[in-house]
Amino acid sequence: MRTKIVAGNWKMNKTFLEAEELVAQVAEALDTRKLDNKTVVLCPPFPYLELATDIAKDAKFSVGAQNVYPDDSGAFTGEVSPPMLKSMEVEYCIIGHSERRKYFAESNEFLAGKLDGLLKHDIIPIFCCGEVLPEREAKKHFKVVEKQLNESLFHLKKNEMSRVVVAYEPVWAIGTGVNATPEQAQEMHAFIRSLIAKKYSKKLADDVTILYGGSCNAKNAKELFSNPDVDGGLIGGASLKAVDFLAIVDAL
Ligand code: PEP
Repeated sequence: MRTKIVAGNWKMNKTFLEAEELVAQVAEALDTRKLDNKTVVLCPPFPYLELATDIAKDAKFSVGAQNVYPDDSGAFTGEVSPPMLKSMEVEYCIIGHSERRKYFAESNEFLAGKLDGLLKHDIIPIFCCGEVLPEREAKKHFKVVEKQLNESLFHLKKNEMSRVVVAYEPVWAIGTGVNATPEQAQEMHAFIRSLIAKKYSKKLADDVTILYGGSCNAKNAKELFSNPDVDGGLIGGASLKAVDFLAIVDAL
């Protein structure tokens, strides 16, 4: 069955005390909610993962990292490996975020290695894909996303692909206040699902969770989530305030 997910990507925000406060506020508010088939994931910066996983033990959210290095260990100063995340009870990890692609030149091929590393250690990848504005304007957005999936994801075996969460994040919508319309989101999500069905099977495609990300907020979440192929959201800016993030959780 397809899991519905709202994941908060805090990016490089919050001091330790602020992080402590936000995790506590989310935990307390979720305590009184019935989440049924919904999963809430918090993805704080690396230094706060332990704080989050400690609280998550008695709370209704899971913890994700924002990045990982493909290898298990070695001379990669400053990097964090899949077994390190696993040993801290981190269950999810965002990869392929457009900021990593842009500022750290992460290629589709490099991301394929991260997927392998995460799956080997039983961590669920949240794989981000999406086009930049000139690509959409040139009507190349489907081709761009198809290439990202082909080069990073589609080497996976069926039993691996079934554990991946996909996040469609049009780059022009991230942090801009301009979200994709519900129609644009649905159209791309259905396209992604059709590619997965063609490569693997309809059953597997039907079960894959596909999140929308890009200026999703308390006001537009319900309409975006009401589409049949939109299974929740990857939330940036609006995940930094408990009240906003929880309104998005409630909209799912
Ligand atoms: C993101 O960075 O994944 C994101 C969706 O950001 P925002 O919600 O701020 O657009």
